[in-house]
Amino acid sequence: MSQEDALRPGEQRLAIAPDDDAALRFIGHIETPFPERADCPRQGSEEGPECTLVLKSDYAPALLGLEGFDRIEVLYWLHRARRDLLTQNPGQDGVFRGTFSLRSPLRPNPIGTSVVRLIRAEGCRVTVRGLDCLDQTPLLDIKPYRCDYAPLAKGKNIKVK
Ligand code: SAM
Repeated sequence: MSQEDALRPGEQRLAIAPDDDAALRFIGHIETPFPERADCPRQGSEEGPECTLVLKSDYAPALLGLEGFDRIEVLYWLHRARRDLLTQNPGQDGVFRGTFSLRSPLRPNPIGTSVVRLIRAEGCRVTVRGLDCLDQTPLLDIKPYRCDYAPLAKGKNIKVK
């Protein structure tokens, strides 16, 4: 656990057992220009730098059709986050919030989500703008952003550019 993860005065934590595995499978990793937490934006922006989702080669066929979407949702595992905080003092100002009322990376299951702009998909590499995670963050999933879905009825379930 890094110094960044040290408890702040007054924060409460849960005494947890060593991680029991939820058996998620990482599908790849994310390359970003953010080596440290202090370099990351708190939330990504479509004006932000290009980042790359690098899939393990076995998952390449699962990208079929993705290029039809302007925006996609990316789920990732915030692997350097502590997982035992119940309350947090993000502003270090004495104002405490419960973990579930925050988008803090510090949570029992540190899953991050971002809706990002799809720039291109080539082979196992998907270039996007709008991420806020560390370089080498494990990649969990990719989904088309739900606003791009037409109604599921009548057999027409995706909008292609
Ligand atoms: N957009 C996601 C969400 O809303 O679920 C994550 C938001 S969280 C506030 C983003 C912050 O998490 C970054 O500013 C950085 O401090 C931290 N972070 C990014 N990647 C991380 C990683 N792999 N492990 C731990 N913390 C990370």
